[in-house]
Amino acid sequence: MNTRVVRAACPHDCPDTCAMLVTVTDGVATAIRGDPDHPNTAGVLCTKVSRYLERTYHPDRILHPLKRIGPKGRGQFAQISWDEALDTIADRLQSIAKRDARAILPYSFAGTMGAVQGESMAMRFFNRIGASQLDRTICSSAGGAGIRYSIGAKMGTDTEQFEHARLILIWGGNPIASNLHFWMRAQEARRKGAVLVAIDPYRSLTAEKCQHHIAPLPGTDAALALGIMHVLVRDDLLDHDYIDRYTLGFAQLSERVADWTPARTAATCGIEAELVEWLARLYGETAGRGEAVAIRVNYGLQRVRGGGMAVRNIACLPALVGAWRHAAGGVLLSSGDSFPRRGDWLERPDLYRADAMRPPRTINMSTIGDDLVRAASHDFGPAIEAVVVYNANPVAVAPESARVAQGFARDDLFTVVLEHFRTDTVDYADIVLPATTQLEHIDVHATYGHQYIVANNPAIAPLGEAKPNSEIFRLLAQRMGFDEPCFADSDDELAAQAFEAGHAHTKNYDWSAVRQQGWYKLDVPPAPFAAGGFPTPSGKCEFYSERMLQDGLDPLPSYIPPYESVVSAPALARQYPLAMISPPQRNFLNTTFVNVQSLRDTEGEPHLELHSEDAAARGIVDGDRVRAWNARGEMLARARVTDRPRPGLVVALSIWWKKLAADRKNANELTHQRLTDMGRAPAFYDVLVQVEKVSDP
Ligand code: SF4
Repeated sequence: MNTRVVRAACPHDCPDTCAMLVTVTDGVATAIRGDPDHPNTAGVLCTKVSRYLERTYHPDRILHPLKRIGPKGRGQFAQISWDEALDTIADRLQSIAKRDARAILPYSFAGTMGAVQGESMAMRFFNRIGASQLDRTICSSAGGAGIRYSIGAKMGTDTEQFEHARLILIWGGNPIASNLHFWMRAQEARRKGAVLVAIDPYRSLTAEKCQHHIAPLPGTDAALALGIMHVLVRDDLLDHDYIDRYTLGFAQLSERVADWTPARTAATCGIEAELVEWLARLYGETAGRGEAVAIRVNYGLQRVRGGGMAVRNIACLPALVGAWRHAAGGVLLSSGDSFPRRGDWLERPDLYRADAMRPPRTINMSTIGDDLVRAASHDFGPAIEAVVVYNANPVAVAPESARVAQGFARDDLFTVVLEHFRTDTVDYADIVLPATTQLEHIDVHATYGHQYIVANNPAIAPLGEAKPNSEIFRLLAQRMGFDEPCFADSDDELAAQAFEAGHAHTKNYDWSAVRQQGWYKLDVPPAPFAAGGFPTPSGKCEFYSERMLQDGLDPLPSYIPPYESVVSAPALARQYPLAMISPPQRNFLNTTFVNVQSLRDTEGEPHLELHSEDAAARGIVDGDRVRAWNARGEMLARARVTDRPRPGLVVALSIWWKKLAADRKNANELTHQRLTDMGRAPAFYDVLVQVEKVSDP
């Protein structure tokens, strides 16, 4: 028997980007585990990826190219050869490109986070064609914009340092489900005496395990941050030296927050004024004793109309109390901007040939539902005629799902999907191409939760006729006659060049060494903003942001109320009185893993969690079948009656495959396509619904 252990990286849309060890015997992967030597992974994979072999060798894997033989949406396919598949795609794209290549749209996101199998060869291909650009906004762009206005970049406290903090605010996230290795650090901090406070309208698994839980109304986190600032200024719980040296606009900020009394904050957030006082004083006084106070803010709270502003406001807090002086202090939304990714080299935007008659066009992935059914016009440009989907599952994930499905059902739309499984989106494809999984290809990963570049070596040969995304776009480029040398770059060459070597954060980075060792820790100083040096235009933490003013935004921290529960209330709230959020189910990762039986069995079917008061008012008891609906659609679910959601809130843990639900629907039937205040992102958690009991079929 020939057994070896291969170093790999978890590819999924998760901040932890675990280093994995895959045992391979005679060409078959037989075991997978977290690398015990990787400081962040510490030998632990989450429940989902512990089942990665079940997923890789799943009997439902797509192993051959397929073409559609039934109506769109039915998922009826016949096997074809790679030659037929590639010729069909190249012929169709060429004929569209002759008229206007902007009618071709790539659609991709974080199905893999790898630099090679993500946007490298794929973007070279679409840039060379002259296709529409995709604005990749669906997850994090509101918060990303918000934090960049305040501190200049998506970077902050090193996850490994959180265990040394004395106070941790876990704000808008459920790390037990979606940031497990941060949670391990937070628990270690607690063992050493730290106080953990969860801020979340839902008492999640994480909130349950923190010493304190504050449950503001969804969409009001920006107001809570303003209320904390008010108390910090009012009671002089400030680090004046830090403010004077390293911040901009303190006088204007003080004036702005003067009105945000605990009473006003409490009324806005639906909590008690004493809680606002308590939280602000805990934060300011802990920092005032010279102890490290840290905030782990996550993406849940930015999925509302004012989500960008909420993150911006929260990112101002550490500078007020001088928390950045400590390696274990500050705030972390994402470490993504710490990585010197060579986007221009990987994606080659220079291949795009501008044409005065056909100016570049960008389509927002968050409004794909509307844009797929939009007619050609002077403002919009050509109607979308072809979509190539990779690393994404928009029919289940994009907001206002019925509208998205309507778009993909267009008979005149040519849809190509690169996939592992027959997802909801695959059911609408004209051509399906079998893609390799992480065990079958090479890649290299940045992350958004720690500071390591992680290598992924192929552990096994591709199953069936599957090919890496990079190879599929290489072959399509050949078929289209693109002869630029960059289309011949191998995956190893792409990986080797994905990150700038010799940058201040990658002083000794060398891909060949990283492939062997598995990872490389960035050279980021432990307390990056202890002496200012924020990557903002002023070099300071900007309480006042001139850039925001130029972008048409309020230059100071403010509160932008939610669309549905405030702006459209009370009329809308009379019809749909319950707010709904749809955060990640612990056993799923977006829609990945929903078809892995052992994981789906833990959930069984879609659930809707209601507070006992809301359930009683509707005659609903635990286990009843319920219907949730609003003007956009409806979904059926099994009721869970608890006191975990705050009253007035329902929680649909997500994201279910629609076709695996009894009614073939999921929570995105109820979401909408309106965008956040900044970052052009969807407001998934800014939704009102009504719920009623229905009979079981
Ligand atoms: S999903 Fe996250 S926690 Fe799970 S193995 Fe992957 S990176 Fe680690």
